[in-house]
Amino acid sequence: MNASEVALVTGGNKGIGREIVRRLARQGLTVYLGARSPERGHSAVEELTREAAAEEPVGGLDVRFVRLDVTDPGSVEAAVEKIETETGRLDVLVNNAGIMTEWGVRAAEVTAARLRDVYEVNVFGVVTVTSACVPLLRRSPNPRIVNMSSGLGSLTFLSDPANPLSTRGSLAYGSSKAALNALTVIYANALRAEGIKVNAAGPGLVPTDQNAAAPFPRGDRTPADGAVVPALLATIPSDGPTGAFRGPDSLDEV
Ligand code: NDP
Repeated sequence: MNASEVALVTGGNKGIGREIVRRLARQGLTVYLGARSPERGHSAVEELTREAAAEEPVGGLDVRFVRLDVTDPGSVEAAVEKIETETGRLDVLVNNAGIMTEWGVRAAEVTAARLRDVYEVNVFGVVTVTSACVPLLRRSPNPRIVNMSSGLGSLTFLSDPANPLSTRGSLAYGSSKAALNALTVIYANALRAEGIKVNAAGPGLVPTDQNAAAPFPRGDRTPADGAVVPALLATIPSDGPTGAFRGPDSLDEV
């Protein structure tokens, strides 16, 4: 990995995304922290840089705010333009932004409108950001894309009647992550000849704002734990995998 590399992380202002930003920046990458809210984005950048500045021997981190709402194509294009103007390159894209809005909602009561809202971020947002970034990624000697997926996107998990979300709470989110897994392998094959690697990461169950209302124990993994696998996939060498899904228990395979 080259220390002058540039990364973009969507939904980087909190949760697992902020920890991915931190891990990549601590490895010397210039990291654009994408956030839809300038206030939340700037505050996250300030917090990350202040913490690092006070810590020896880390010193300074190069973390930069960029406004980016994955559901707003204009903001995505403006974000890519800013990165191109400032650095002329992009080596890593982490499609981390995601939402889950249906805890406790029975599958048969999930409306098409709710499904559409979730897909706007978890699926269409990924397509919008990926297609905007690919031209810049093509300039990198080792371009990588990481999609934040979930064990809930596994058809094996979704079809298991014993899973705690089998009757409620997974129609929109689970199917959106299954669609994201499909996008991952299709992009991986389509971009393989150009050397662009596309992989999916499952962070494991991490108590964040996204699952604050989950009707099951949310475990004791920290957002920093959840960032380990996506950050590893974001820094794989040019002979690393593509089209793979790596969950929290597959560190050795990354
Ligand atoms: P959080 O709710 O803590 O963070 C979600 C991030 O996505 C926030 O920064 C949020 O910004 C951002 N976001 C939401 N909508 C948009 C949008 N339209 N445009 C740009 N950014 C947006 O969740 P997590 O950190 O837990 O989730 C991160 C990823 O990991 C998601 O893709 C999630 O599905 C996945 N994941 C999480 C698991 C867990 O157990 N936590 C398990 C498996 C997968 P804002 O602050 O403005 O809302």
